[in-house]
Parts: sequence; C-alpha cells; structure tokens
Amino acid sequence: MTELIDRLDGELFSPDSPGYDAVRRPVNVAFQGRRPKYVVRCRSVADVVAALAFARATSERLVPRGGGHCFAGRSSTDGIVLDLSGLDGISVAADGTATIGAGVRLGQLYAALHAEGRTIPAGCGPTVGIAGLTLGGGIGLLGRRYGLTCDHLVGAQVVLADGSVVDCDEDHEPELFWGLRGAGGGQFGVVTVLRFATVPEPTATYLVARLPITAPEELVATWQTWAPDAPDDLTVKLVVAAEPGRPLELTLIGASLLAEGPTRSLLREFAEPSALEVRRMPYSLLKEAFDDPRGLPAIRLRSEYFSRSMTPGTVAALLGALDGGDGPRELNLHAMGGAYGRVAEDATAFAHRNERFLLEHVGAVTDPWVDVSWSIAHPEGSGRVYPNFPDPALDDWATAYHGGNYARLQAIKRAYDPDRFFDFPQAI
Ligand SMILES: Cc1cc2nc3c(=O)[nH]c(=O)nc-3n(C[C@H](O)[C@H](O)[C@H](O)COP(=O)(O)OP(=O)(O)OC[C@H]3O[C@@H](n4cnc5c(N)ncnc54)[C@H](O)[C@@H]3O)c2cc1C
Repeated sequence: MTELIDRLDGELFSPDSPGYDAVRRPVNVAFQGRRPKYVVRCRSVADVVAALAFARATSERLVPRGGGHCFAGRSSTDGIVLDLSGLDGISVAADGTATIGAGVRLGQLYAALHAEGRTIPAGCGPTVGIAGLTLGGGIGLLGRRYGLTCDHLVGAQVVLADGSVVDCDEDHEPELFWGLRGAGGGQFGVVTVLRFATVPEPTATYLVARLPITAPEELVATWQTWAPDAPDDLTVKLVVAAEPGRPLELTLIGASLLAEGPTRSLLREFAEPSALEVRRMPYSLLKEAFDDPRGLPAIRLRSEYFSRSMTPGTVAALLGALDGGDGPRELNLHAMGGAYGRVAEDATAFAHRNERFLLEHVGAVTDPWVDVSWSIAHPEGSGRVYPNFPDPALDDWATAYHGGNYARLQAIKRAYDPDRFFDFPQAI
C-alpha cells in the first residue's frame, strides 16, 4: 500500500485515515453504508493505472466512481473505490469540441460550456457524473432535438484492465468506441477523458404545469399519444405523485426551444393546466432551475420502455395502486421519439431507438408497491430497460438492456477485458 501512495498524484484513504468520510460518496442513501477498504482519489491517468495495478496485485475488487448516482450501487464496493472526482478538467476547442475529465459532474459542465456559448444534450441533476451518464446513453431536456449524450461523444481515453491506456474514436479502436456509447458504465475499462461535439447553447423555455386531477386516467392516456409525437423542440415528462393523506398530483415538467407563446399553445393541445409557469432563459440556467437541493433519499426505481400506449385498464390499475402507501410514490413518464429515434439501433451500443416513452416507478426501498406497480405495467411494455436505470430484479437483463446488440458487446468484452476484471451482477 505504501508503494501505491508513493506513486499517486492523488490520495489514498482507508477507513482509519483522516478524510475518508469526506470523499465523494454514493448519492443514494441506501448505498452509503458500504465502506470500501480503500478509496483512491485519482488526479491523473497515471493514478488510474497505478490503482488498477494495486488492485490486480492484491486481488481486491475495484469499481470506478464518477458522480456516484448508480441506482444499483455499482460504484460502491467493499474493495477499492476509484474516485475520479480529481479528473475535472474542461476545455473547449475553437471547433466546439469539448474535452472533459471523467470526474466532471453535470452542474459544473453546463456552467463551463455556458461560458463558451455551448452545451451538450445531457441529463438533469447537477451532481450526476458525465461519464456514468454518457456510458449508459444520456437522456435529457434537449434529447428529442439533439439525441442522447452518447450520440455527441466523438472520442474517449480509456484505461484497460491490463493497465494500457487507449484512445478510441470512429477510426481508432472503433469497436470499443461503439461499446462505450450506451452499454452502461464500468463494462470495459476506466474512462478518463471524454470528447464531445457540442452544440450552440440555446435559449429555452422552462415549463412546469400543474394539471387538474379530475380525470387523471384521461391525462395519462392523452400524454402517451401526444408527448412522444410533439415537435422535437418540446420535451415534457408527466409526473404522477402520491403522498399519504394527500390527493394525487399530476405535473408536466420540461423545456421547449420555442418562445413562450407557441409553448403555451402547444401545451393547450394536451390539457388546460390549473397553474402554468413558463419562463425564457439560457439553457444552463434552465437546468439550474430544475436542481433539487434536497439530495436523494433511499429510493428504489424500476422502469421499462414502451413502444405503444398502455391500455385504459392498465392505466387505471397503475393509478389505483398508488394509493395506500406510507411514503411518497411517483410514476414518471419520459417522452422519447424525436432525435432519439433517428439513429439506427446498431449504430451505437444504445439499443432503444424505437421506444415512445419510458415509465419509472419510484418509491421507498422498502415499499413493495414498486414491484406491484412495475408488474401491472410490464405486460404492455417492450421488455427494454434503460441501462442507466439498472434493475437487479430483471429476469432477462441482457435483452432488456442491450436488445440485439448484446452479442457484439460480448465480443467487445472478450477482446478488451478477457479476465472480467470489471465485473458485477448483470455485467456484459
Ligand atoms: C438524481 C438522479 C438524476 C438523474 N437524472 C438523469 C437524467 O436526467 N438523465 C439520464 O439519462 N439519467 C439520469 N440519471 C441516471 C444516471 O444517468 C445514472 O445513474 C448514471 O449511471 C450516473 O452516473 P454517475 O457517474 O453519477 O454514477 P456512478 O455511480 O459513479 O457510476 C455509474 C456507473 O458507471 C461506472 N462509471 C462511472 N464512471 C466511470 C468511468 N469513468 N469509466 C467507466 N465506468 C464508470 C460506475 O462504476 C457505475 O457502474 C439520474 C440519476 C439520479 C440518481
């Protein structure tokens, strides 16, 4: 261990060293009790190489941690956590290509790109890591207009299990580069640098619409036929929230690239809101406006894609099942379509291009409703699951996450990580 410390630009923490509790921890409270034997805070690619060598020599399990948001706790271990937060460089070249360290989180990324008048389509949540998000796809408020975050990745630097450092893009190590775009984090190596083609930062319209609760079944039914076919410039998710002792709340949350007037008109095609807030602002500020400072309690999330609308009976059963909990429960419906679907399923590792929407069931870790609700909707789902929402309860996870791309991903795994150094339940 002292040899490793001598070689590091960064720091090594063990449970008895000062600072151990201050390192970047998993965001979901459910995984915060898992205490690694070592945390290596990397400040250089050489640190990543040294930590991998140390893990191989000691046979300790090693997992990379970016923003620490994994819903299945895959960036937590009893072995070695590779904390990438020190790899935090961001630069933008004259042609708009952004070079971003793997420890960067979305809040700092949007702010840095804003200073250059640029942005990338990516997710919400200021502390979500750009690496984890991109490796699994990357869904966000500009996605229906510009596609997934991984669709804008033009190159990456990766440290492989044997310690070699490779640069990959369309022309160099193209299979690895293909696999990095949507298969999920931690599969083939440790990504240290990501390069993105940015887009000009747009002015966007923030929108939050509270909906009348008189006919929730009808609203869910209408949203399913409306939101996935709306113009690409409009992205709206429908949130159905239940709290004990309070009436259901239905809220439309999203962004549009249109001015306030056309945005309001489009929304009225869907429903007449009981309260509506629309405001024009630079996209980076819009992202900040959606930041939730409350952190993440111990939640469980299950989800599935849908390529057709759920039937009225299923919608009614889903809404009925929300009742009777002793904690908050939420159904979130995210619209896909638009640019997400204009890329072939085998063009990148992300295999879910023909889906209309994504349904999330979010509740307390101990709430059996999450499984009940997922099972109600599942018979009408497409069987596909977003790799960034990993679900340990899935039976056929390989088809769910990777569809027809699984065999090609297995070949990439054999080529780049033949000894399965990077391994976890449901790894390729
Ligand atoms: C509050 C919240 C908001 C979210 N919002 C969105 C959203 O708007 N859009 C969306 O698409 N998703 C969203 N997600 C899901 C998010 O994309 C995934 O949780 C993603 O994996 C998070 O990446 P991370 O780096 O923060 O997490 P981590 O837990 O650090 O990493 C996730 C996985 O990637 C691996 N990994 C991390 N860094 C690297 C690296 N450099 N090289 C190789 N493997 C690596 C980890 O080992 C782990 O397996 C959200 C999640 C949460 C909890």
